[in-house]
Amino acid sequence: MSFTDTLLHWHHTIDRKLPWKDTLDPYKIWLSEIILQQTRVEQGTPYYLKFIEAYPTIHDLADSSLDEVMAHWAGLGYYSRARNMHKAAQYVSSELGGEFPSTHTDIMALSGVGPYTAAAIASFAFELPHPVVDGNVIRFISRYLGLSLRKDDPLLIREIRSFLTPIIEKTTPSVFNQALMDFGSLFCKPKNPDCRHCFFKDQCQAYTEGRVSEIPLPKKKIKRRSRYFHYLLLEVKDEILMTQREEKDIWQDLHEPPMIESKEDHVLDRKPLLAFLEINTADVEVRPMIEKRKQVLSHQDIYASFYRVMINKKEIITLKTGWKWVKKVELQSIGKPRIVDLYFEDKSITLFS
Ligand code: SF4
Repeated sequence: MSFTDTLLHWHHTIDRKLPWKDTLDPYKIWLSEIILQQTRVEQGTPYYLKFIEAYPTIHDLADSSLDEVMAHWAGLGYYSRARNMHKAAQYVSSELGGEFPSTHTDIMALSGVGPYTAAAIASFAFELPHPVVDGNVIRFISRYLGLSLRKDDPLLIREIRSFLTPIIEKTTPSVFNQALMDFGSLFCKPKNPDCRHCFFKDQCQAYTEGRVSEIPLPKKKIKRRSRYFHYLLLEVKDEILMTQREEKDIWQDLHEPPMIESKEDHVLDRKPLLAFLEINTADVEVRPMIEKRKQVLSHQDIYASFYRVMINKKEIITLKTGWKWVKKVELQSIGKPRIVDLYFEDKSITLFS
């Protein structure tokens, strides 16, 4: 049997239902692909359903505010995806009259769309013969061909594409790509794949050479860094002081209380804290919260501490750029870093006064 026949034969034996599999709507396919970048299917599915409900068409997404999109995205991480998605929706809605681009090159031109996502949309929505090369496909094909290269090596991706392109050109691209991704994800798993029962075992180089556990080689290790964020909670009646992150850093555009970052892990002294807030009166009490929260990101660990700064009138604070008083009941509708969101939820912050 040919590679394609073997793959499709296996695919007929499984029944993997996903909410975006039965649609040809490029908008929905694009949405699912953006959400699933760097996100597991189980985690991404409820977000996909939430977005489709909130924004049934690309015009709805384009017409919404970035703040609202960020609030829907909260908790999914890699927030630049949401920003790019909103930007791309506005472009398609206003410049293309809502008609989603239908060639690989034009799809690639959208903000936040790389070669993998473009190939997925091109094949699933328009039956264009572009192989999807995601992490699961990289693992499966590099083992099949016995390629000992790092999984993020561009040479490996090129080799895999040149192997798959002439094959997909003779198939129904959407069916072939789905089978390819499903096989990598469900059968040729990272650890202990069931090679003895694999339909490809006689042609699989890694299996015949006993190198399955070595292929593909891991990515180069990037040194992790720890960061210490000290959040200052200032509340007056039903309002809380919040800022919006602007600089090119993690969590761009999300909202959080005013924050001081320190290089070391320590409790912030009262004096620099009040100096940061430009509070001159001596009788303002600062209450550090005992517990510390941790959020693990791809290359950094964020440790957050929270301090209540007891003020009784807003005028004590001179607002800096991006600072604003927000009604506590409105906190839910603005996008916040997960670590802040969870803290607010746990502490029922809307009940503080
Ligand atoms: S034999 Fe093993 S390593 Fe090779 S394709 Fe099948 S499951 Fe993957």
